[in-house]
Amino acid sequence: MHMSLLLTQFLDRAVHLYGRKPAIIDELGKRYTYEEVNERVNSLSFGLASLGVEKGDRVAYLAPNTLEMYEGFYGVFQVEGIMVSLNTRLKPMDYVYILNHSESKVLFVDHDLLGLIRPVRDQLETVEKIVVHGLAENGHGLIAYDRWLSSFPSTDFPRADLHEDDVSTLLYTSGTTGNPKGVMLTHRNNYLHALSTMHHLRVNDRDVLLHILPMFHVNGWGSPFYYTANGATQVMQKAADPKVILEKVEKYGVTVMHMAPTVLQSIMDQYKNVQPQIDQDVRIIVAGSAPPKAFIKQLEEEIGWEFYQVYGMTETSPLSLASYISSENECASNDDYYELKVKTGLEMIGAQVRVVDEFGNDIAKNGKDIGEVIVKGPLVMKGYWKNEAATNETIINGWLHTGDMGTMDENRRIQVVDRKKDIIISGGENISTIEVENVIYDHPAVKEVAVIAAPHKKWGETPHAIVVVREGHEVTGSEIIDFTRERLAHFKCPTMVTFMEELPKTASGKIMKVKLRELTSQR
Ligand code: ATP
Ligand code: MG
Repeated sequence: MHMSLLLTQFLDRAVHLYGRKPAIIDELGKRYTYEEVNERVNSLSFGLASLGVEKGDRVAYLAPNTLEMYEGFYGVFQVEGIMVSLNTRLKPMDYVYILNHSESKVLFVDHDLLGLIRPVRDQLETVEKIVVHGLAENGHGLIAYDRWLSSFPSTDFPRADLHEDDVSTLLYTSGTTGNPKGVMLTHRNNYLHALSTMHHLRVNDRDVLLHILPMFHVNGWGSPFYYTANGATQVMQKAADPKVILEKVEKYGVTVMHMAPTVLQSIMDQYKNVQPQIDQDVRIIVAGSAPPKAFIKQLEEEIGWEFYQVYGMTETSPLSLASYISSENECASNDDYYELKVKTGLEMIGAQVRVVDEFGNDIAKNGKDIGEVIVKGPLVMKGYWKNEAATNETIINGWLHTGDMGTMDENRRIQVVDRKKDIIISGGENISTIEVENVIYDHPAVKEVAVIAAPHKKWGETPHAIVVVREGHEVTGSEIIDFTRERLAHFKCPTMVTFMEELPKTASGKIMKVKLRELTSQR
């Protein structure tokens, strides 16, 4: 029998090798060693067992990045439960949907977020107990976490027979294209994804991670696993405030941060004010999409921080592409180097990635032809929770169909250009809405833009730009169209422009084009 790949082994390893090292630095600056964290995790497991949590039971968490959230992962795994981590930016009715759909038995919630649950508490069909982080006293049917935790032993929790194919986490997708779907990731999925990621991001025991991206969400996902396995120190951070982030980088000697492109932008703006006090080499890992080339150049050359882009989705644990540069082929010049850095990336270890046409054949590796990105390997989810039909539509012969469209160049570097549902086909030509949006974003009056397909008599479809204007600026639709015509092939230019006060977004800040299509077709 080979060794079973269990997430609990990551914390075990850290305790054995790095027991006295600071594992967690909480929001107030309090330090906890790996041994101390492990004792809390043990108490949590005893506590969960006392609440009747058994193998396969779902335990939900609604919390920002805190020690309590972190220890939840390992505490739940030890009792063979399944962690359901909830996005803190949802609406109360979304929690009703996810908690009932996942049939969660216990809910842990941060005291500051209790207001999101209170109004819908009666509608939760399966939640038997609510335990509140940061609550001083039990009351109103709520359990106060600290007091509760300290009533349980901190000795080793007796482990039963976890299996690597058991589901460890049930993580809901962002709901950008419809209802969020529950993604089942096994211990093996998360474990092998963690091994691959720690290699690509060069995670080591000298690392100090500042947890900016929420741990509950696919973007920040996995970091509680691979930084723990390597005995790194993890600094908790509830909100992405650039001033606080820069202070913490200095104070704790942060070496690595994962963030959304918008947060990176705000940190760069803030950096100008504090320079040159910060003398710290940092790796920045950006999830979701790349900022402009000039921006990356400034980050690397002026500030000296290293940039990576990663691509992933909940269904692939989540990462399958990273924008690392292979030594062989690519960079002849400095400009080449940054050209590659903005591209989505190369496949990571453990992921097989192809780009295929509608018949399933690989597209030409010319950086131009567009096909769907498909992924195979141990990082591909077990399936969607209680949705076999969607699982069978998405995983075909072991290949997960991402629903993202991309190109591949001669070195197998992939560029994601659009979602399949969003791409516009006009007169037989594919138009990447992301490309058109990036051009419109360069217009000084544009605050936000989304491009969607509108029906067209002659061309089938035509690009329709929905624009939010920056405060204090004015611009007309035909000015926007002219602006694009100077910069883009004419077939790619919008023929319609609509102005809106704001764009509909998901809780993780992604523009919901489904909603936009509904809204604009009503006009
Ligand atoms: P839903 O599946 O519910 O519609 P979602 O797809 O937005 O929501 P996530 O799993 O959080 O849910 O996001 C994954 C998606 O994010 C990918 O399929 C892709 O469209 C987009 N994405 C992630 N990384 C990148 C990147 N580096 N470049 C471009 N797009 C990216
Ligand atoms: Mg998706």
